[in-house]
Amino acid sequence: MPIYHQVALNIPLFKLMTYRHDEVLAIGTRVVVPFRGKPKVAFIWENQVEPDIDESKILPITTVFDNEPCVNQDWIELLEFTARYYHYPLGASVFTAIPTGMRKPKPLSYPVVDKTFQLNETGLSQKSPPEHHRKLFALWQALIAGIKLTAAKNIHERATCYLTKWQEMGWLNEVSNQNINPKEGAVKLNQQQFDAYQAICDSLNTFKTFLLFGITGSGKTETYFEVMAEVFSQGKSVLFLLPEINLTEQLLSRFAKRFPDISCAILHSRSSDGERTQDYLAALCGQVQLVIGTRLAVFTPIKNLGLIVVDEEHDSSFKQDNELRYNARDLSIWRAKQAQCPVILGSATPSLESFYAAQNKRYQLLSITRRAKENARLPEILIDNVRHQKLTEGLSERTIKLLQQNLENGGLSLVYLNRRGFAPALFCGDCGYSFTCPNCSAKMVLHRSVRHLRCHHCDHQIAIPSFCPDCGNTDLSAVGFGTQRIEDALKKIFPNAKIARVDRDSLSHKNDWQEICNKINSCQLDIIVGTQILAKGHDFKQLNLVTVLNADGSLYSADLRAREKLFAELMQVAGRAGRDKSAGKVLIQTQLPDNPIFHDLQRQDYISFAQNELDSRRAFKAPPCTYVAACRADAPQLDDAMQFLRDTITQITLPENVYIYGPAPQLMVRLSGRERAQIFIESTQRTLLHNTVNDIAQVMEQLAKKRHKIHHAIDIDPIEC
Ligand code: ADP
Ligand code: ZN
Repeated sequence: MPIYHQVALNIPLFKLMTYRHDEVLAIGTRVVVPFRGKPKVAFIWENQVEPDIDESKILPITTVFDNEPCVNQDWIELLEFTARYYHYPLGASVFTAIPTGMRKPKPLSYPVVDKTFQLNETGLSQKSPPEHHRKLFALWQALIAGIKLTAAKNIHERATCYLTKWQEMGWLNEVSNQNINPKEGAVKLNQQQFDAYQAICDSLNTFKTFLLFGITGSGKTETYFEVMAEVFSQGKSVLFLLPEINLTEQLLSRFAKRFPDISCAILHSRSSDGERTQDYLAALCGQVQLVIGTRLAVFTPIKNLGLIVVDEEHDSSFKQDNELRYNARDLSIWRAKQAQCPVILGSATPSLESFYAAQNKRYQLLSITRRAKENARLPEILIDNVRHQKLTEGLSERTIKLLQQNLENGGLSLVYLNRRGFAPALFCGDCGYSFTCPNCSAKMVLHRSVRHLRCHHCDHQIAIPSFCPDCGNTDLSAVGFGTQRIEDALKKIFPNAKIARVDRDSLSHKNDWQEICNKINSCQLDIIVGTQILAKGHDFKQLNLVTVLNADGSLYSADLRAREKLFAELMQVAGRAGRDKSAGKVLIQTQLPDNPIFHDLQRQDYISFAQNELDSRRAFKAPPCTYVAACRADAPQLDDAMQFLRDTITQITLPENVYIYGPAPQLMVRLSGRERAQIFIESTQRTLLHNTVNDIAQVMEQLAKKRHKIHHAIDIDPIEC
C-alpha cells in the first residue's frame, strides 16, 4: 500500500502537493520528487494523508535523504505562522527560509565541530549500534575505547551529528580543550545600564519584549553583552539580528573579544551558499551558541534559544520588500514567544510601532539617557536656513566656514548627503526636457566619471547624451547635487584638503572600505563626503563636524514614514560626531527651518518627536494606531492593474470596522517597465483585517488565472503607505 505524503515545494501555489512512498516518512524529511518533469527538492510536511486527487496520478518520491536532520518542530511552526501571516505560499516560504545550498537534490555535508567528546557512565551502559552500520559502529568503538573524539572529517562527515545526538541523550560529556579566556573588554555597567540588564535578566526564562531606548553611544551594546553572558552561562543560545550595514568588522571583533569561547555563526548577504548551509546545519545541530545575522537569519533553527536581540530595530531593512514580505523584527518577537525567552529591541530612534507598543505597556521600555563614556558629549546641532541664500555648488556660506575652521584645527569633517552620483537629473536648458528612465517613473542620475546616465531603480544605463532629443539643443544642464559633484566642489574650494568620497559607487571593491578606514584612523583625511553607508555603525573617533546637505526631500514626500525615517537618519548621522572626547558639531542646511522636526532634532528629543508623530498618525488613522495591509497589482499598463483591483473589491463583502482605500496608483507608478497600483485594507482589529485579506487573496488568485499580464501581491504591515 502506498503511503501518501504532502510536501512543501518551491512553487507559487498555496496548496501542498501529494506524493507517494512505500514507508512513512518523518515530517521535515528532505526528499526529491518529480515536478513538471524535473527533479525537485521538497520537504515532507504531512504524512499519511488521504489522497486529494486520483490515486493513479500521484507520483512517487524518488529520493529520500533520511538521517539528515534539516528542520525541527519549532522551525516548522515558525514557517507555518510566517506563511499564514504574510499570506504567502507555504512551500515558497519554506524555500525562502532555508539556505539555497539545501535546494540542490544532493546529500548535505554536515559541519565539523571542534568540540571534543568522551563517553560517560550512562553512555558506557548503552547498547552498541549494529555492526552493519559500519561507520556508526566504528565511531562507537572508538568512544568505548576511551578515545576523546573531536568530531572529525576523517571518521565520517555525519559523525558530528551523531556525536551531538548522543551528547543530547546524555551519553557523552564534552571535554573542554580550551582555557576559558578571561573576558576582555567587559565593562562595569553604569546605573541605567545595570537597571536595564537587571530587568531583562529577571525574566530570562519567560517571554517578554523589551524596548531598549538609548542614544548612540549610550552603551546599549555593552548592555546586550552582559545579558548575553548571563544567557550563555545558563547554556542557552542567542540570536542577534542587525541591519547589514551595521554588521561591521568593528562590531564583530567586539563580539569575538567579549565571547572568545562562544561558537558563533555569522550570516549576511556576502555569505556563500555553502557557508550559509553549514551555519544553518550547525545551528540546527546545536553547535553554535550565537547566531549573528541580518534579516534572513531570523529563520535559523536554534537549539535552546534563550534570548533574541534586534539591534537598530527601527531599520527598514528588517522588512523584505519582495516575494515573502516578512518583517524579521516582528517574527523575532513571535520566535521569542515560542521559545519563552525575552527579546530586546534596541534603538536610539525606535520605530513608532515599538514606541506605541511600549506606551501601551505591551513592551517594557528601558531607557539609557546618557552617553556611556564620561567625556563623550552630545553633539551640538545647528540649523542653517538656506531659503534665501545663494549657495556655492550646494554648499551654504556657513557650511563652508565651519569646514574651513575645522580644517585649520586639524579636525575631521563629514559632508553628508544621501544621494550618490554627480547630479540627480539632466535637463535641457531650452525646452525643459528631462531624461527619465524608460522603465521607471524616475529621473536618470548623471554619473559623470563613468559618462553615464543611470536609473537607480532598475539600473538602466545610457551614455551621456550630447543634445536634447526633443529640440536638439546641446546645452544640457545637470540639476541638483550628488556626492560626486559635492566632492568636486569641495576639491575646488579646499585645494589643500585631503578629501574622500564614500558611497556605493566608491566602495565597489571588497578592500575599498578597509582602505578608507585605515586612512581615517591614521588621520590621513580631512573631509569625507558620504551617504548613509557612513552614517551607521561606524565609530570614527576623530570625527567632530557633520554637515548635512539635502535633508528636505523627505519633508515634501507623501510617504507616511518619510519624517520618521528622516528623523532616525539625522539622529544617526549626528550621533557620528563627537563620540569620543571632542564635542561634535552638526550643521543641517534646510529650506524649512520651522518644521517641528528640526526643533526636536536640535534638542535630540526623540520622545517629543514620537509623540507628535503618533498624534498625527492617530488623526490620520494610520499605523501604528491601526493595522494595515496593502494588496498590490502591476501590469504593463496602469489601467489593467487598477481594473484588476477594482474587480477584486467588488467581490468582497466588508465586515464592520474594516475599510478599503483605493485602488490608487503607487507612489512610484512605473518600476522596471511595469505600472503599479494598490489598495489598502485597514482595521483596528488584526483578526478582522486578516480575514478580509484572506478573502481578497482568494479573489485575486482566481482573477489572476484569467489575466496573465497581472502580477499581484499582498503586503502585511507594509513599510510604504
Ligand atoms: P551603543 O550600542 O548604545 O551605541 P556602546 O555599547 O557601543 O553604545 O557604547 C559606546 C562606547 O562606550 C563603547 O566604546 C563602549 O565600550 C563604551 N561603554 C559602554 N558602556 C560603558 C561603561 N559602562 N563603562 C565604560 N565604557 C562604556
Ligand atoms: Zn529604471
